[in-house]
Amino acid sequence: MSSFDVRGKKISVIGMARSGVAVAHLLNSKGATLFVSDNGKKENLESEIARLTEENIPHEIGHHTERVYDCSLLVISPGVPSNAPVVVEAQKRNIKVVSELEIGSLFCKASIVAITGSNGKTTTTTLLGRVLGDAKKKHVVAGNIGTAFSSIVLELAATDIAVLEVSSFQLDHIETFRPRISVILNITEDHMDRYEHSMEKYAASKARIFENQRADEVLIYDADDEWCRKEAALAKCRTIGFSLKSMQDEGAFVEKGRLVTVIDGKRTEVIPCDEISIKGMHNLYNSMAATLVGQLLGIGSASIRSTLKNFKGVEHRLEFVREVDGVRYYNDSKATNVDSVWYALQAFDEPIVLLLGGRDKGNDYSRLTDPVKNRVKAIVAIGESADKVEKAFQGTTSVTRADSMDGAIQKAKSLSVSGDVVLLSPACASFDWFNNYEHRGQVFKELVNRI
Ligand code: ADP
Repeated sequence: MSSFDVRGKKISVIGMARSGVAVAHLLNSKGATLFVSDNGKKENLESEIARLTEENIPHEIGHHTERVYDCSLLVISPGVPSNAPVVVEAQKRNIKVVSELEIGSLFCKASIVAITGSNGKTTTTTLLGRVLGDAKKKHVVAGNIGTAFSSIVLELAATDIAVLEVSSFQLDHIETFRPRISVILNITEDHMDRYEHSMEKYAASKARIFENQRADEVLIYDADDEWCRKEAALAKCRTIGFSLKSMQDEGAFVEKGRLVTVIDGKRTEVIPCDEISIKGMHNLYNSMAATLVGQLLGIGSASIRSTLKNFKGVEHRLEFVREVDGVRYYNDSKATNVDSVWYALQAFDEPIVLLLGGRDKGNDYSRLTDPVKNRVKAIVAIGESADKVEKAFQGTTSVTRADSMDGAIQKAKSLSVSGDVVLLSPACASFDWFNNYEHRGQVFKELVNRI
C-alpha cells in the first residue's frame, strides 16, 4: 500500500523518542513538510535531536507550542496517550490524529502479523520471530519491541512478514491498519487510569486490531478469555481460538498433555507440553498463539516443535536469576499488572516470598487473594503502593515493608528457607523508584547476584 502520497503535506509528529524520530525520518524521505515536538527533557533526547537537526527537520523540545497545530495530520509516538492535552487539543481543532503504526502500515508492502493483549505481547512476538527465523522465513520483528516499525518498513518486500507488537495506545489511532493475521492474547485489567476505568473501552481499543481485516484474513484469540470471546464474535474475518479449557473445532488446545492444533480440518500434535521450554500456564497460551500463526504462515510442525523446545523466554519475564542456599530467585519485573502476577504465582509449586508494589495504576488486588493464600508465605511490600498492598493482604499472608530494593531482598532472604522461591513480580509500574521496569529488574538481579 505504498501509494500514500505525503508530498508537501504539513505533518506534526508528537514524541521524539525512537518511533517518533523514525516516523519523522520516513515522512521526510517521502517529501512531507514536518514539525516534531516533544515536551520532555532535552538531556534525555540528545541523539534524537542531533538526528533531526542533521536532516533539517524543524523541532522543539520541553513544550508544545502553537506551531504543532499548523498541520493537517498529527502523528503520535506509541508513548503518547490518547488523553494527552496536545492530542485532545488537535482533535478539538479537527486535525486528524494517527499513530506511528498507522503511518508505517501505509508504506508497508509486507504481510503484517500484529500481536496485542494485556500480557504476553513481547514474549509471543519474540517467540514468533524465532519460529519464523528458525524456519528461514524472511521477516522482521518490530513495533513496541526493539525496532520502530517506521524505521524498517521501506526495506520490506511483498513476500516478507512484519511481526509487530502493538499496544492499545497505538490501536487507538489507526484508520486503515490491516494485518493479515492479528492476535489478541488476552484482555485483562491494565491501564485502567487511561481508559476511564472502563473495561469496555479498553477491550474495544484492543479489538480495533481486526476492524479492517477482510474475510480471508485471520484473528487468533484466547477462547478462554471472556472479553476476547466477546470481541472476536464481532470480527468480519476468520477467527481461530486457542484454549486450555476446551477442544476447539479449529484452533489450538491441550489434549493428554500435548499441544494440539486443528487448522482447515488438519489435526497436528505439535509437542508434549512439558517439552516447551518457557514455563507456566501463561506461556502455554503464548506458545499456542505463536504455533497457530506459524502454521498459518506455512511453517512445518517439526520446526515449530524445535523452536518451542529451545526458546528460553525474554529477560525480566519470570527470569531465573540465581539459587542461594536452596532458595531460587526470579525476576519478573515486567509484571506491571495484577493478571501477570496471578500467572506468575501459578507457575510455581514451591512456597513463594513475593516482592510486590511500585507505582499503582488503579490495581484491584482481590484477584490475587486466593493464590496468595495458597502459595505465598510472605509478601514484602515495596514502592509507593506499599500501604495499599499491606491493607489488601492483611489477614491473607504475612506482609512486611521495605524502603529499598536492597532492604526488600534482605527481608526476603531472612523470610525464606531452602526449597522456597523469592519472586519479584510487582503488579505495578516502576517509576516510583526506578527509570523503568528494565532498570528495576537489573537492580534486583545485581543485588541478588551479590548476596
Ligand atoms: P507484554 O509485552 O504484553 O507486557 P510480556 O511478554 O512482556 O508481555 O510479559 C509481561 C508480564 O506478563 C510478565 O510478567 C510475564 O511473565 C507475564 N505474561 C506473559 N505472557 C502472559 C500471558 N499470556 N498471560 C498473563 N501473563 C503473561
